[in-house]
Amino acid sequence: MAHQVCIIKGDGIGPEITEACQKILDAAGVDIDWIEVDAGLKCVEAGEPIVPDRTIEKIREVGVALKAPMTTPIGKGSVSPNVTLRKRLDLYACVRPARSLPGVPTPFEGLDIVIFRENTEDLYAQIEYMATPTVATGIKLISEYASERIIRAAFEFARKNNRRSVTCVHKANIMKVADGLFLRTFQRVREDYPDIESWDTIVDALCMQLVTKWRNFDVLVMPNLYGDIVSDLAAGMMGGLGVAPGGNYGENCAVFEAVHGSAPKYAGLDKVNPMALTLSATLMLRHLGESQAAKAIESAIERTLIKGIKTYDLLGDAKTSEFAAAVVSELKG
Ligand code: NAD
Repeated sequence: MAHQVCIIKGDGIGPEITEACQKILDAAGVDIDWIEVDAGLKCVEAGEPIVPDRTIEKIREVGVALKAPMTTPIGKGSVSPNVTLRKRLDLYACVRPARSLPGVPTPFEGLDIVIFRENTEDLYAQIEYMATPTVATGIKLISEYASERIIRAAFEFARKNNRRSVTCVHKANIMKVADGLFLRTFQRVREDYPDIESWDTIVDALCMQLVTKWRNFDVLVMPNLYGDIVSDLAAGMMGGLGVAPGGNYGENCAVFEAVHGSAPKYAGLDKVNPMALTLSATLMLRHLGESQAAKAIESAIERTLIKGIKTYDLLGDAKTSEFAAAVVSELKG
């Protein structure tokens, strides 16, 4: 039976990488009934909210979506469509694997980490106000409830996928109350997972250790803001934004998207790398129980890279469509 999946084609480079990704999924023989839903700039231009209610309802009903990047309009009162989706669907776990890939030049060979970023609170709760005309305040919101569910998700993932350790990343030496609660929750939850090695580290030390001793790390769990920053660091270590995938998981639905944004200056040029979205789609296939197809796509991408077929960001000269066609022929060959 076909899997039903909502698709948001996004803004900027979104439509072209979506097309490339759908061709690759099709060639892998996965039967997907794509349901296109609207969000992003075209909704704003039509006078609608950036993520219309009908889109939220459809994703809730279907339970799975693949989402190309969307542009955040600039200006007072503008909301990010990405943050809106995560909040309204309560996609509390942002999961970003980062591993070195054959054929992608990086000094970080053997990198293989998975970042679990809390996705709903911290400074992203967007509770900000002017305390006086010249003093701005932003609230760092950390609850035990949200901390516990992301920490448990990281440990459950580690157990299910035979990963050896979970590291809690925080800054509790300075933010003793907010990050202190996150750390105390980690110390309590880890007691339920004695089979998995676990320790904690402060975020600045983690950044240094990641680039010097990356093989020491496995699964990492952290509050929202550190997760945002460390994910981009990990994307760079992997070979750049063009190759970094992600998934956002809630209790009842999941939305898969690349780490990168809509890169408007490359829109329509058939130039950018469709790998990040396609690897996000392989996370989606695993979520749908299609692990074999996910594996086949990953190894077809690796064979394509090893042959030297790469887009500009990996110092190649293949166009988006040419890279996708090469992966398709690997899958079919
Ligand atoms: P961006 O990630 O869109 O692009 C930054 C640079 O990264 C690009 O100029 C390009 O050099 C490179 N890049 C990005 N994707 C690539 C790809 N697939 N292949 C090759 N190179 C790639 O970041 P930005 O320019 O800061 O943001 C543009 C818009 O995207 C903004 O409106 C921002 O709010 C939005 N955004 C959306 C998401 C999302 O949808 N989840 C995430 C980040 C940013």
